Amino acid sequence: MTRKLYIETVGCQMNILDSELVVADLRKRGYEVVGNPAIADTILFNTCSVRAHAEDKIYSALGRLREAKQRDPSKIIGVIGCMAQNHQHAVFKRAPYVDLVVGPGQLHQIPTLIDEIVAGGGRKIEVSLDRSGGPRRDVERSFESYDPLRDETMRPSRYQAFVRIMIGCDKFCTYCIVPKVRGPEQSRPAAHIETEVRKLAEEGCREITLLGQTVNSYRHTDGGVTTRLSDLLYRLSAIEGIDRLKFVTNYPKDMTQDLLEAVRDIKECSHYLHVPCQSGSNEVLKRMKRNYTVEDYREMYARIRETVPDFAVTSDFIVGFCGETEEDFEKTMELVAESRFKNSFIFKYSPREGTKADELWPDDIPEEVKRRRNNDLLALQNQISFEDNQPFLGRAVEVLVEGPSELARKHEAQAHEVRAHGSNSSDENGEAGAGGAPNADGASNADGVPHDHVHGPLQLVGRTNCDRIVVFDGNPRQIGRILPVTIYDANSFTLFGEVVTEHVGPEVYSISL
Ligand code: SAM
Ligand code: SF4
Repeated sequence: MTRKLYIETVGCQMNILDSELVVADLRKRGYEVVGNPAIADTILFNTCSVRAHAEDKIYSALGRLREAKQRDPSKIIGVIGCMAQNHQHAVFKRAPYVDLVVGPGQLHQIPTLIDEIVAGGGRKIEVSLDRSGGPRRDVERSFESYDPLRDETMRPSRYQAFVRIMIGCDKFCTYCIVPKVRGPEQSRPAAHIETEVRKLAEEGCREITLLGQTVNSYRHTDGGVTTRLSDLLYRLSAIEGIDRLKFVTNYPKDMTQDLLEAVRDIKECSHYLHVPCQSGSNEVLKRMKRNYTVEDYREMYARIRETVPDFAVTSDFIVGFCGETEEDFEKTMELVAESRFKNSFIFKYSPREGTKADELWPDDIPEEVKRRRNNDLLALQNQISFEDNQPFLGRAVEVLVEGPSELARKHEAQAHEVRAHGSNSSDENGEAGAGGAPNADGASNADGVPHDHVHGPLQLVGRTNCDRIVVFDGNPRQIGRILPVTIYDANSFTLFGEVVTEHVGPEVYSISL
């Protein structure tokens, strides 16, 4: 019997990739992906523990399933990923109707564990060793890199893919739960990464984003030869079909000159670097144990500007960290004002049990102060992003077309519901892939393009080489291509443009499209 799988993913790109791989693994075994938990017999939540809010969301979602499980005890409910590793048996205590708890280092076990539960084996838990749970080698082994064969239909876009090059983290920033839930830092062998990227390129993938918590710390030694991220980028850029290479997230201290020169010299490297700073105050950085000063960050930033002047740089900041004064916060505002990041991801500090900061200091910044600082920093960054997007007006940029825009997807989903039901009622058989893209056997293909999209322009979205989002009218045949687009409007987050038609050539439409 075909099992119907519903999966919901919270968190970072690592989690999106993990969900893609779990789904691919289960689909190989005959599972069908559905977009509605009401019709699923297997419901998985791939979870995040970085902030309390992400965990609260999952417990609320689990709470909403309590009755469904009472009505149909054969439904399997699973919590996988970081919160599973963080809370372990406590998940069963808070939600006793959960059947499966699997940490991020044990995802390969999911298909077998589900089979055992279906066969009446009772609930299952598989997590990795705690960081202090044994010798480092044993702890490392208990966090297996999970990189099974890919399934192109499960990616949000078949032309783009995430590829993991490292797992875990050893930096132990005092606020961060990642080293606990994702385990020790381990780099994957370069040859494995190369094989995976070659296979993705053969499937038509044009853009690869390499993932690691501190991706620029990548280092793998094999037969006495050490491969750094810069070496890896040279190897991957030589693979036929790969047009764009990105890598996230960078650790400021490890932004070496060889890496900056590699991204300058390799034409496939995107002109984009994400290098989180976290705070503009040395006192706060010290308590965060980031191992650099604001002066170090400024020096690194100046080297980026010198080596690759046109690169877009983005950052992360935490506001309201333990003991953060108004003066500390003002220093963060100053750093953002002077650096003119393309974008900043701003988070209110969320104490995490099991971290040094939680153990050592009270969460002493009131919520309203955190909120105000968050809003002030966001307003400043948005103003900078708006101003820095204006020079694009009237310019042609190269855009890798990812697929229909959010708006186009919404319109199509509504139109599909009307076609299916003759009204706007909710679609019990709604289908969605792991990345939210409509599923191939539903109303759309792997790019989220409706099979019956024939008439009129389709609003498309893509990204420039410097990772700016561009929205423009086009047609499904342009998805996966790199096109010149002239920009006519811009806000803080998006450039709006028109395809430069003289470069495109005649479009040939198949009647069956
Ligand atoms: N490895 C990346 C790095 O070192 O920058 C980022 C990992 S973390 C998943 C993403 C971002 O979440 C961090 O850059 C930080 O700004 C934020 N973050 C991590 N722990 C947090 C916490 N306890 N409260 C609020 N934000 C947090
Ligand atoms: Fe967390 Fe710091 Fe590691 Fe990033 S470098 S994952 S913030 S501990």
